[in-house]
Amino acid sequence: MSVQNVLNKIAENNIQFVDFRFVDLAGRAHHITLPSTEVDAETFVNGVAFDGSSIEGFRGIEQSDMVMMPDTESVFIDPFTDHPTLNVMCNIHTPDGERYDRDPRSIAQKAEELLQKSGVGTSAFFAPESEFFIFDDVRYESGMNKSYYEVDSEEAAWNTGRKEEGGNLGFKVGVKGGYVPVAPTDTQQDIRSEMVRVMQEAGLRVERHHHEVATAGQAEINFRFSTLTKTADNLMLYKYIVHNVARQYGKVATFMPKPLFGDNGSGMHVHMSIFNGDEPLFYDKGAYANLSPLAMNYIGGILYHAPALIALTNPSTNSFKRLVPGYEAPVNLVFSKGNRSAAVRIPIAAVTPKGCRIEFRTPDSTANPYLSFAAMLLAGLDGIKRKIDPTALGYGPFDTNIYELSDEEKKEIRSVPGTLDEALDALEADYEFLTEGGVFTADFIENYVAIKRNEAKAVATRIHPHEYSLYFGC
Ligand code: GLN
Ligand code: MG
Ligand code: MG
Ligand code: MG
Repeated sequence: MSVQNVLNKIAENNIQFVDFRFVDLAGRAHHITLPSTEVDAETFVNGVAFDGSSIEGFRGIEQSDMVMMPDTESVFIDPFTDHPTLNVMCNIHTPDGERYDRDPRSIAQKAEELLQKSGVGTSAFFAPESEFFIFDDVRYESGMNKSYYEVDSEEAAWNTGRKEEGGNLGFKVGVKGGYVPVAPTDTQQDIRSEMVRVMQEAGLRVERHHHEVATAGQAEINFRFSTLTKTADNLMLYKYIVHNVARQYGKVATFMPKPLFGDNGSGMHVHMSIFNGDEPLFYDKGAYANLSPLAMNYIGGILYHAPALIALTNPSTNSFKRLVPGYEAPVNLVFSKGNRSAAVRIPIAAVTPKGCRIEFRTPDSTANPYLSFAAMLLAGLDGIKRKIDPTALGYGPFDTNIYELSDEEKKEIRSVPGTLDEALDALEADYEFLTEGGVFTADFIENYVAIKRNEAKAVATRIHPHEYSLYFGC
């Protein structure tokens, strides 16, 4: 929408405040609010200044002045404020008016520009399935009961952090027993519906919602696919609404990939396809899973670069507690049309030529959507450029049950990195595909790896509660 349209929207809706937002390296939103009386066409040209040195991973104190440049394509009325407030997502610029090369949103836009320049297609479409838990209380506070973070039996699941006001009413969800039962087993229908209602009001097109597999209130809400940066904006809005509606209900939502040991974690499967204008480039009727050679090369790029890519799509120490066998999270770097333990799945049920897409199942919602979507696109584009054939490299297809393969056959299958540090090693060894066209800079990668190494160290050097069970009695 044009600047004039935004100003009209402010006037028509009696907007009193305009909230300018940007996203940090970790994928968290930050904001500065201006009374609408201080906002005019100039604000959209000059931007809004902020102190970049106070945001982790951005600038040092000696060069701290940064500018938020509002993107008028990304506005919504805040559903949660007492005073009518319009939110605008911003890019981050340096004081000289350049796009800041560590700004995630600028990186996402540069990846889209690279796609267009490459001549491969005009747009890449993304659709994330971002799962989360809704808990009754904050589980990570000190003094927590062991059952708050560990579900190792049916009985433990039944006792997991639930407040039993009015007594124990039964109909509990057991370990991995949460996939789509109706009420009274599903106690979160209303809270999910309210999340969806607020999302629709804020302009998101929501397709469906359901209870997910894990016990204790795991949920998923799906919104419609869109282009890369737009989808990342949508995901920011999605998370903002999930967190704040949960708060209104006196609950807490978390996108942490593995909050409960012994039950399914929360993933963020990402569906992707490339179009040239109106023409879907991934579809080829009659080929394996109706996938075109271009789509196969895209898969080749994703799987070939996966160990490095995962440093951006699964960027937390907790991510790797999800990526273990037995919980529908992928551990095998293979592709398949049905197999949910494969990193890349090709959905084949009810798929039209335009809906033909691939699903990368590894990512989780600790990923910064701008950085991770950009990285996925770059990996896929590199596969297309270098015509990487995933079958020739031994990535599949594996359409049989992988657990039933012989040991010899299993040895051939590569796995996802086991820890954040392993993924960072892989990223350091393989990041040229990310610097294509200057989308990511080498400085960005170095800075990112250093921050993440510190995070891994901070976790590894802390004493874990389970160490007490193992070693306290020595
Ligand atoms: N929660 C599973 C994961 O971690 C996915 C479950 C599903 O959507 N089928 O990826
Ligand atoms: Mg789903
Ligand atoms: Mg799911
Ligand atoms: Mg899925």
